[in-house]
Amino acid sequence: MPAIAYLECSRCHARLSADTPQTLCTQCPDQPAGALYVRYDLTHLHGSSPSDVVGQTASQPWSGMWRYHAVLPSVEPVTLGEGWTPMLRSKRHRGVYLKEEGANPTGSFKARGLSMAVTMARHYGLRKLAVPSAGNAAGALAAYAAASDIEAHIFMPRDVPLANYVEATAYGAKVTLVDGVISDCARIVGERKQHEGWFDISTLKEPFRVEGKKTMGYELVEQLGWEYPDAVFYPTGGGVGLIGMWKAFEEMEQLGWVKPGKRPRMFAIQSSGCAPVVRAFDDGASASQM
Ligand SMILES: [Zn+2]
Repeated sequence: MPAIAYLECSRCHARLSADTPQTLCTQCPDQPAGALYVRYDLTHLHGSSPSDVVGQTASQPWSGMWRYHAVLPSVEPVTLGEGWTPMLRSKRHRGVYLKEEGANPTGSFKARGLSMAVTMARHYGLRKLAVPSAGNAAGALAAYAAASDIEAHIFMPRDVPLANYVEATAYGAKVTLVDGVISDCARIVGERKQHEGWFDISTLKEPFRVEGKKTMGYELVEQLGWEYPDAVFYPTGGGVGLIGMWKAFEEMEQLGWVKPGKRPRMFAIQSSGCAPVVRAFDDGASASQM
């Protein structure tokens, strides 16, 4: 695994240290501040073949998404076996594959981001994590927090699916049901985190959930024989999976693991009731609003 060189702001490109926990960019001249990308010194991997570095090494068998340990932070993982989900061939449509992310622990792709984010939280010695969730992130955070003996404080809208609520409480998370929507839950976390000593592990408010989700990009390319697909159709909420996959493609091209210049077309699929990415795209906006 490589050491993190620095964290880079996605907006102003300022470089921040990863020696201490970071949230958003502290150098942005304008608000809202940019999210941070994890950057590594990967020069030792340039010219390598992915088969040389992905998966097992002599010292340790890396399974699931941690098979990409060479492009993830050099820390001891908090893992429940996330990642390396099946790529299923569509019976109805030729040339279409379905990435079965329901096979992840706690049943969704949220496991990837939260495995990585909780791994780093434990590395930094954080004791209390807080998050707003409309469902799947709650179960995933609760599970990884339980696995690392860290407190999880979760705020969910009262009409959230019962299964997600039960799952989070069964894992020992402190769950508060809120009369409101997800943005009300986010506001409560924002108002109380300083006083309570919580670290806000909300999506795009810390650098490592993107970093976990980028493994989807590596995986789908490896599962296609280190070739890009023509297009990726991706159901998304805030867009972190899309961002993560795009980051993976950029890294793979820098490493020479795929041919540059033929990235897949990315399609964001959203429900009409929650479509910030589609709305921003249709409006020609430079950023989406949650
Ligand atoms: Zn910035």
